[in-house]
Amino acid sequence: MAEDQNNKENTTTSDTNNTSEYEDVCYICRRPESVAGKMIHIQNDICICQDCMQKTFDTMNNGTFNMGDFMNMNMGKMPNISMINLADLQNAVPNKQKLKKKKPKDEQPKPELDIHSIPAPHKIKARLDEYVVGQEHAKKVMSVAVYNHYKRVMEDTNDGVEIEKSNMLMIGPTGSGKTYLVKTLARLLDVPLAITDATSLTEAGYIGDDIESVVSKLLAAADNDVERAEHGIIFIDEIDKIAKKRNANQRDVSGESVQQGMLKLLEGAEIEVPVGASSKNAMVPMTTVDTKNILFICGGAFEGLDSVIKKRTESSSLGFGGKVKSKEDDNNVMKRVVPHDLVKFGIVPELVGRLPVITVLDELDEDALCRILTEPKNSLIKQYTKLFKLDNIDFEITEDAKREIAKRTIEEKTGARGLRAIVEKILTKLMFEAPSDDEIVGIKITAECVRGEAEPEITRAVSSTRKK
Ligand code: ADP
Repeated sequence: MAEDQNNKENTTTSDTNNTSEYEDVCYICRRPESVAGKMIHIQNDICICQDCMQKTFDTMNNGTFNMGDFMNMNMGKMPNISMINLADLQNAVPNKQKLKKKKPKDEQPKPELDIHSIPAPHKIKARLDEYVVGQEHAKKVMSVAVYNHYKRVMEDTNDGVEIEKSNMLMIGPTGSGKTYLVKTLARLLDVPLAITDATSLTEAGYIGDDIESVVSKLLAAADNDVERAEHGIIFIDEIDKIAKKRNANQRDVSGESVQQGMLKLLEGAEIEVPVGASSKNAMVPMTTVDTKNILFICGGAFEGLDSVIKKRTESSSLGFGGKVKSKEDDNNVMKRVVPHDLVKFGIVPELVGRLPVITVLDELDEDALCRILTEPKNSLIKQYTKLFKLDNIDFEITEDAKREIAKRTIEEKTGARGLRAIVEKILTKLMFEAPSDDEIVGIKITAECVRGEAEPEITRAVSSTRKK
């Protein structure tokens, strides 16, 4: 009797368990509830669709068992049901492979981003300014592109004018803040973001990630909520590394083929993606994601592009009237990029055509790096000050020291990414010792200590020890 009761609890149809936000997925055929219909819940959160259950019984009973009867019975009374070994199935359906239920059409869900609530470009830029130092032009271009993109997504007028997608290409040296800009933007807009490296992608069927895996990443970032994912942002970094190889005489599975594969995604297509995994296989449930409204942002350093641009501009300014190039011009060569230069660089014209917004990020100079150290809302110095404050230690860094750190970062050509490594190296020893030395109440970093000529200046309490 008690066993019966137990079984009854474990064997329910989805009718009685319909409140969860996530769709159930059939353990056998991997189809979600919205496709396969009502599910039968058995032990350990495992669900089986009626078709699969029927097929199982057909096989066991030569077709004499009726599914309808089963729905009104409980599992304990069934002969042969012990053929499914529930212990084997324990924890077999991880939650991450479940899909979020689609909201019914007539419920009129509140849109993620209402056209009226999308902040105007100047407001987006103002928010970006709080986190990202410099890169004025890139921030403006991005704010406008994002604003237009979401306006396009939200508009529902039927006047025959279709606004085209404004996918973006960001060109800038490593550590100039490409990823950081996109991350900040996605956070401000509260949209899911997937970041992927173009070099890890290969043509479908080869070792590496399929191009479509970026969409499954986005789906995962959106908590498997297809609607939310369809309004997300995908950032594909290192796009320059998949440029067409010159003189390649074998199949280029991670270069040009990837570019070709990306075309479909960038333009907007319905993609079958695995849920909760990066590759398709029989054990993974699939769903369809429309990439029409996903904003694609590509980024890359494009080393060598300057010589392509120079060649073009020099040949066009040859002869009478040809201008002599100044050094200043040289620094801004990248800014003069036109789509044709990218084609020359090795990006296929179709892909260039699908990235209509191109923005070039500045190489960060000494001033910008110094500002990055202190100005942003969660700047490095603010972070370290807070860390030491927790131990009641005052942390100070002189202006000269900041300049020295910036100089070293420029020498190492690591961009803003290198700042942390340098500061961390200077402070590691102190961060180890200070918490155990109660007398230390202040730490000051000077230019000499950045150069390795002196130790950080330490202030000690005269008599009393530091309050914990
Ligand atoms: P990349 O251009 O190589 O993608 P990232 O965006 O990863 O560079 O930058 C690395 C780190 O440097 C970021 O996490 C961020 O903290 C910092 N950073 C880079 N550029 C800026 C900037 N303009 N303002 C503030 N921080 C920046």
